Amino acid sequence: MKDITIIGGGCAGLTAAVYGARAGKDVLVLEGGVLGGQISYSPRVENYPSIQSISGADFSEQLYEQALSLGVSVEFTEVTEVKEKDNHFVVVTGQGEFETRTVVIATGVKHRALDIDGEKAMAGHGVSYCATCDGAFFRNQKVAVVGGGNTALLGAEYLSSICDHVTLIHRRDAFRGEEALVKRLREKDNVTLMTPYVVTKIEGEGALKGAIVKNVKDESETSLDVSGIFVLAGQIPNNDLFKDLVKLTEGGFIDAKEDCKTSRPGIFVAGDCREKTVRQLTTAAADGTVAALAASSYIDENF
Ligand SMILES: Cc1cc2nc3c(=O)[nH]c(=O)nc-3n(C[C@H](O)[C@H](O)[C@H](O)COP(=O)(O)OP(=O)(O)OC[C@H]3O[C@@H](n4cnc5c(N)ncnc54)[C@H](O)[C@@H]3O)c2cc1C
Repeated sequence: MKDITIIGGGCAGLTAAVYGARAGKDVLVLEGGVLGGQISYSPRVENYPSIQSISGADFSEQLYEQALSLGVSVEFTEVTEVKEKDNHFVVVTGQGEFETRTVVIATGVKHRALDIDGEKAMAGHGVSYCATCDGAFFRNQKVAVVGGGNTALLGAEYLSSICDHVTLIHRRDAFRGEEALVKRLREKDNVTLMTPYVVTKIEGEGALKGAIVKNVKDESETSLDVSGIFVLAGQIPNNDLFKDLVKLTEGGFIDAKEDCKTSRPGIFVAGDCREKTVRQLTTAAADGTVAALAASSYIDENF
């Protein structure tokens, strides 16, 4: 029987593992994809306190080594179900079942991609899925943002304060995001709203050169000269598995406040898969800390 079983070995899950182990608990991390999670794909991280610059892969590796050095067990297997049994839980994976007193869900999100020509090849070389993370790399350059919700609108606003010019591309005439944000963008000299347009191709070799955009109504095509494209078309939380176990929000995120407690006692949540406004390494690490300490207190009080 494990004390704390953590589903997901990203920044939130591994931080929870470090704090759980340091609280004297027997901790297991189950990782079904790439250890380190989303950040492993980022060539550079320059906004984590006290680390000036590090690759995402090195950041993940160091956090993994730190968890291992504290005696945390890690299994590389996907979790397919979590069941309740008596006063504890059973976590089901491709490699068998694990009994545990508490569970920390730290499964993160997937970014909704455009699935167009050139997108995969240019990801990390001009195509980004996070304005806060990568905006500074495009200082004084021309960029485009794709999307129509609040994330895209806020991303475009943030980028307009750093970049020379921002083109916001949305497939419909009306934006899904708040009207007040749209109004603020319309008032900016260095922002162009391009609707109803879709991006059909991303061009470049090594570095991004631009994109082809198509007018949805008359199907005319135009090329756009930008050095960065921010795809901010939404995030898909990896929470489907838990929909009958804990309360989710309309958007599919786990409904929990800063205390990281879910609707079910004994199950905690950390990181991007939780309902929150800022999804970054710092906030994932903060959640991991809170969730592990809450799980430790729960164990001390109930077992
Ligand atoms: C390209 C890119 C660049 C970024 N750059 C920065 C940056 O510079 N600075 C910054 O602060 N933030 C950055 N971010 C955001 C940052 O990566 C996330 O906020 C952070 O990774 C969230 O951590 P997490 O642990 O909550 O989730 P994730 O990193 O998504 O980790 C979740 C883990 O859970 C695993 N998992 C999911 N489902 C299961 C399952 N059923 N069973 C087992 N395992 C499962 C996944 O495989 C994954 O490894 C960037 C994101 C991207 C995509």
